[in-house]
Amino acid sequence: MWINKECIKGNNTLITVIGSKDAQEQLKSMIESLLNSKVMEPHECETQNDDCSNPDYSKCDDSNSINTITDIDWTVAAKECEEYQQKQWATYPDVKKNFYIEDPEVANMTKEEVEKIRLENNDINVAHTFETDTITDHHIPNPVQTFEQAFKHYPDILVEIEKQGFEKPSPIQCQAWPILLSGKDMIGIAQTGTGKTLAFLLPALLHIDNQEIPRSKRSGPTVLVMAPTRELALQIHKEVKKYDYHGIRAVCVYGGGNRSEQVKMLSEGVEIVIATPGRLNDLVQTDYLDVKGVSYLVLDEADRMLDMGFEPQIRKTLLDVRPDRQSIMTSATWPPGVRRLATSYMKNPITVCVGSMDLKAVHSVTQKVYIVNEDEKIDLLKEFFQNMTLEDKVIVFFGKKAKVDDLGSDLALHGVKCQSIHGDREQCDREQALADIKSGDVRILLSTDVASRGIDIEDITHVFNYDFPRDIEEYVHRVGRTGRAGRTGESISLFTRRDWALAKELIKILEEAEQEIPQELYSMADRHDEMQKRKSEERDGRRYGSSRGGNRGGRNGSDRFGGRW
Ligand code: AMP
Repeated sequence: MWINKECIKGNNTLITVIGSKDAQEQLKSMIESLLNSKVMEPHECETQNDDCSNPDYSKCDDSNSINTITDIDWTVAAKECEEYQQKQWATYPDVKKNFYIEDPEVANMTKEEVEKIRLENNDINVAHTFETDTITDHHIPNPVQTFEQAFKHYPDILVEIEKQGFEKPSPIQCQAWPILLSGKDMIGIAQTGTGKTLAFLLPALLHIDNQEIPRSKRSGPTVLVMAPTRELALQIHKEVKKYDYHGIRAVCVYGGGNRSEQVKMLSEGVEIVIATPGRLNDLVQTDYLDVKGVSYLVLDEADRMLDMGFEPQIRKTLLDVRPDRQSIMTSATWPPGVRRLATSYMKNPITVCVGSMDLKAVHSVTQKVYIVNEDEKIDLLKEFFQNMTLEDKVIVFFGKKAKVDDLGSDLALHGVKCQSIHGDREQCDREQALADIKSGDVRILLSTDVASRGIDIEDITHVFNYDFPRDIEEYVHRVGRTGRAGRTGESISLFTRRDWALAKELIKILEEAEQEIPQELYSMADRHDEMQKRKSEERDGRRYGSSRGGNRGGRNGSDRFGGRW
């Protein structure tokens, strides 16, 4: 018997149980009795433990009930699970994964040459993600430097690349293609703008084309790409459509899009499905989409998907898809949630980490930071609008959807043309907003973070952070929306007392890019450091005297925010 327990939100938990009928019944009644006695809820214990993946049951009072769970023989359970899995997938032919014929020039590189190429390509960092004793294959293929080195034996792929007019592979492509063409699992730590889509797409095309079962006889897609937002899913789809390879068809399914149209396209047969997690599960559960035959699975921007609460849907999909698939994950960051996913569902993956193009872009962006009070922001933004030239194009980022709507109406009332994009807007409106700013029909786009990823508009001249983002990666990402395609750009960020926790990290970014830094930002970072130190001392019980009294009115001058533009 096998159990997969996942935290959804709050106290809700999804449990998938696989095993013999008897074992399932036994577990069901055990869970019911535990729920009735209510001792299994870690949230109800005195100890606060928000990490649902690792509830600390040991701190609960009633240990008897826990013993009931540990009565399960996990070795037998794991064996039963494996047998069940094998039986379920027994009728499926083996997946062919290795299509790589290494170019002798690449194979014969010296170690020093390999290191030099990686360094020159945005300092590619590559290693097995988990070095455990069980790994027998320690080989990491050398990077390629040209399209021919990767695809010499697949001339039709080379023709398609040539049509795009690219000069050479991007850093992630240099290293990802040899790994993915060899059939290995891979984690790409890379952001939008690095060429990551093409990195996983071209090997996917060969994977689709070279399986044993002819394409016409497959009951569902061979390649599944999961993406966090409709915008990103659509952007991937757009990228995929640029490559016309042996009639391979792709469809994009996402919440907010026309469901019956998506169902119709699926029924006509496709090899690639690009999907947002919610709509994907909806279509799988209603039997419109059969993902059992997927043998090449991509989780794009996995960190973002987890941030958005899609972990249960992702885990469900990972169970629906055959386990001997090739798995690829991309993520801009490497938080514990993403690591957990990789540990449980990937086989000896190789991590390829490339310095972000956005970080590079940040160097071509003049970054201005103004320390302000909340109530000063609106005037500063209006002043900015008044000073815009005819050539300027700006994305203004807000923390809340309501603010986007408020300002949008305000500008419309004053006859200023603008567009807006956030999660509550209809899909067609969001697409129209992107089209309008791209074409230059409007020159102001108001947005929440949902739009920061995946927006690839070359001529954005300014990014205006009305509200500072909640983490520094998001800042880098937003700033990277300008200064693209060899242009320069400017970012303006309004930073308030509420954002002080990010002052230190922001200073690091600004220093690295040799930007001007307001003195007040340094003071904020210092004060935050002191506060954290004080807190941790209090926690350790090592602090003497009254801490609370000291906190009040003790921050001399902290209200004096200087440095306006
Ligand atoms: P992505 O990171 O996948 O969102 O890609 C960003 C943009 O880079 C897309 O418009 C791609 O068409 C483009 N791109 C992909 N590979 C290359 C390459 N080797 N050289 C230049 N541009 C590329």
